[in-house]
Amino acid sequence: MSRVNTVLGPIPAEELGLVAVHEHIGYGMPGSELDTTWWKTPEERYAETVPKLRRFREYGGGTFVDVTGICNGRDVDYYKSLSAKTGVHIVACTGFVGGDTALPFFARASVDYLMRHFVHEITAGIGDTGSRAGVIKVGVSRGGRMTELDKRIYRAAARAAVTTGVPILTHLAIDAENAIAIFTEEGLSLDRVLFGHVDDGVNADKTRDIWIAEQGGRLGFDTFGYETELEDPPFWARPRKERLDHLLRFIGQGHLDKVLASADANCSPLGWPGVKGHTVNYIFEDLIPDLRAAGLDEPAITTLFVDNPAHFLSIKN
Ligand SMILES: [Zn+2]
Repeated sequence: MSRVNTVLGPIPAEELGLVAVHEHIGYGMPGSELDTTWWKTPEERYAETVPKLRRFREYGGGTFVDVTGICNGRDVDYYKSLSAKTGVHIVACTGFVGGDTALPFFARASVDYLMRHFVHEITAGIGDTGSRAGVIKVGVSRGGRMTELDKRIYRAAARAAVTTGVPILTHLAIDAENAIAIFTEEGLSLDRVLFGHVDDGVNADKTRDIWIAEQGGRLGFDTFGYETELEDPPFWARPRKERLDHLLRFIGQGHLDKVLASADANCSPLGWPGVKGHTVNYIFEDLIPDLRAAGLDEPAITTLFVDNPAHFLSIKN
């Protein structure tokens, strides 16, 4: 039976239910935990996070994939407690959001070292938590092109994915030619890679989404809810209708099986105020109603939020 690593142990892929595939319990830049202005008590973090996860569960959510990388506030013992209390399956990641958020210890490491670290977190566990990573996070540093360090991390991730059967999820899908060249050289099938943030307001125009799909990659329309209509929108916001039309156009071109959707929200951001009014529950409160109103039928919605994530997250070995 195919299985997926959650923080409370492996489960059959069939039990994931509806999946939010790109989310954050709490994302912050390395060092934010040392800042006295932004430091939050455990009580504050629980108070901000638990109601959102409970609502997610009440709406019919099954699994929350936390793609907060190493060095960005990943806190697996905390995730275990949240999962146990709310009944939401939580999948944690190994890897880095981008080379530019890796602390010097990792930034100076070789491909082989990074690969062994990722494999350890997937097969033995993350630190002393006993929880195994269920996905590998990689990403493109700020600037729009993959840096030498980004490429080292992508190559290590590809080797770890081939070794363990755990998939890769990317932050940004720009400069995909370089990413795909690395994955291909390492013998990784591109259906094991979810190219994320193809829909964000900064990068959508620069992202070759159709070309990536034609190469066999999966596409993440995963910044739903970061809208210019928000009271105080972030720089990566995009008009609501424009993003929705982008997804519908992509599905209309025959790529439904390659699409995953999510909200990239923070339950309790670390070291920054977060984006007011945006939570993981955008998926239920806005996105799914919008998709229904646009004429997407129930089987297509199930494909998008249940079947595609189950195939993607299943460990292939
Ligand atoms: Zn994210």
